Amino acid sequence: MSNDPILGLDPDTLAIRAGIERSQFNEHSEALYLTSSFVFNSAAEAAARFSGEEEGNVYARFTNPTVTAMQQRLAALEGAEACIATASGMAAIMSAVMALLSSGDHVVVSRGVFGATQQLFGNILSRFGITSTFVPATDLEAYRAAVTPSTKMFFIESPSNPLTELVDIAAVAAIAHESKALLAVDNCFCSPALQQPLKLGADLVIHSATKYLDGQGRVLGGAVCGSKVLVDEVLKFLRTAGPCISPFNAWVILKGLETLKIRMAAQSASALELATWLEAQPQVARVFYPGLPSHAQYDLAKRQQRSGGAIVSFEVKGGREEAWTVVDSTRVVSITANLGDTKTTLTHPASTTHGRISPEAREASGIRESLLRVAVGLEAIEDLKADLARGLAKLDV
Ligand SMILES: *Cc1c(COP(=O)(O)O)cnc(C)c1O
Repeated sequence: MSNDPILGLDPDTLAIRAGIERSQFNEHSEALYLTSSFVFNSAAEAAARFSGEEEGNVYARFTNPTVTAMQQRLAALEGAEACIATASGMAAIMSAVMALLSSGDHVVVSRGVFGATQQLFGNILSRFGITSTFVPATDLEAYRAAVTPSTKMFFIESPSNPLTELVDIAAVAAIAHESKALLAVDNCFCSPALQQPLKLGADLVIHSATKYLDGQGRVLGGAVCGSKVLVDEVLKFLRTAGPCISPFNAWVILKGLETLKIRMAAQSASALELATWLEAQPQVARVFYPGLPSHAQYDLAKRQQRSGGAIVSFEVKGGREEAWTVVDSTRVVSITANLGDTKTTLTHPASTTHGRISPEAREASGIRESLLRVAVGLEAIEDLKADLARGLAKLDV
């Protein structure tokens, strides 16, 4: 490693240069190796590769040069020793938990994590004896109070979706480590361009690469980053259980990482402008955006994140009818629940992503009928404002 030419380079450079291993053709752009297996020069080499005595590619369920390149580049950006890519973000969470926990273990999960993550912990892992306690994301005492002698992991997401609540990562890391538990952070919303949880004390970073890492809504992918010891355990699980990423998807994400920083900077700048504008509209009751001084955790956001991120939520005055009027009056933004794309998306969480939760539970978690979420993309900001203004103008306030 000491001769590694990328050692010590700035993360901005690593996003472009980490993970490159050229073939005999000396291609400039990273090659895409669509192959499921690799050939050996001899029986002895095959045996050495299989046993792990000799490093090298064997079979693409657990080794592929394109996937390796993506893993090295993402590890460099997160400041991680190692990274393992998975088929999707959910596959990353499942793999980390299945690799590192056992039946009888307990997890403390922040409320407001991604919907499928709540289902995974609450309904699936519980059937295999891994229990969870969900705690309010911002209540540090609740994290401490939830710890049992079996607690082995804390799982958090910051900022939360759609209300942009922040978890104090350093503070939760300290609580987790007091009880010798691991802290896993789903870093999907900020990406390493805006937040590096390992530097704040987290043990594992989880990604849905489907979102900002790809950045153009093309492929599914996921990843787990952390120390070599922990990531090796996840690799052992992946090698056996098989939730691996396609080399094609890894290649798309690898190339996406090259523009991550400028996309996140541009989308965050637009999000701040949109949030500021929304706050001044008479039809808007409230704006949720960590980059606004009105955000309840503005100081923590400034400490923990490089910017407010690209997700803005807001409540219109009124209820579902008024919120749907804004949605149905748009002509530019996409009405879809996905995010992390160059194309701006607009969602009514209460009737879509959070539609299966009971109305009482939804109200209790602050997701009102009047709430809309914008995942800001790269279109001209004036066009985005005009698109939302059209519906807002129709509201009777
Ligand atoms: C989308 C998402 C996931 C799941 O990722 P997939 O790639 O869709 O499996 C997990 N966490 C967060 C925060 C997400 O937004």
